[in-house]
Amino acid sequence: MDEFIREDGRSPTTFRNMKMKVGILNNADGSAYIECGGNKILVGVYGPRELHSKKHSKPDGAVLRCKYNMAPFSVVERKRPGNDRRSTEISKLISEAITPCVFLEKYPRSSIDISIEVLEAEGGTRCLGIVGASLALADAEIPMRDLISACAVGKVDDTIVLDLSEKEDQTGNADIPVAIMPRTGEITFLQMDGNLTQDEFNEALNLAYAGCEFINQMQREALLNKYRGEL
Ligand code: UDP
Repeated sequence: MDEFIREDGRSPTTFRNMKMKVGILNNADGSAYIECGGNKILVGVYGPRELHSKKHSKPDGAVLRCKYNMAPFSVVERKRPGNDRRSTEISKLISEAITPCVFLEKYPRSSIDISIEVLEAEGGTRCLGIVGASLALADAEIPMRDLISACAVGKVDDTIVLDLSEKEDQTGNADIPVAIMPRTGEITFLQMDGNLTQDEFNEALNLAYAGCEFINQMQREALLNKYRGEL
């Protein structure tokens, strides 16, 4: 049977063109920049820093705070600046996806702040935000159990596909963003929009594991490139 070719020419199991760099911001403790298809995402990390507010600090570990923001010029229809329900939800889910991999207990009464700025969006920004946040944390030399990886899988024209574009997200039958700790295989985040049979879901999840493995290799390469001086 002929393999299904997607509208942008990709096979079902191929990512869009991707680039990752770390350590590109001078004033943050750690940073990362990711391009994937039409997405451009910049992440900066500050911390761990002492949190003076008793109300917000925790005696047994650091508080991980994450802010996802879409620039007004990041999408075709100008995005109204500031928080909205979507960005509040994505900030919360990214922070929950990353928390299990950071040794927060090493830094009581402190905060670790992650800013994710979406400069251009074309579908899949929450997963790329997780990938970039994980890279920026590693760049800030914050101890972690694993370098967390994420990608979206879904169903388009009755085929299970990897890394949905904005158009596939809008017209497809299902979209499942997933974050995985590659060393243990633990899933720290999974959302599902649409309908899949049990077999389709299993196929999609297997593809997400393979996709995250690929992303993890790219993350490692990006970190190594910094130390090789290839920025
Ligand atoms: N999008 C948009 N305007 C918005 C929010 C989203 O044009 O206010 C686009 C953007 O390209 C985004 C895509 O729709 O990447 C899919 O958005 P979704 O909420 O599914 O999140 P994502 O796939 O980016 O994690």
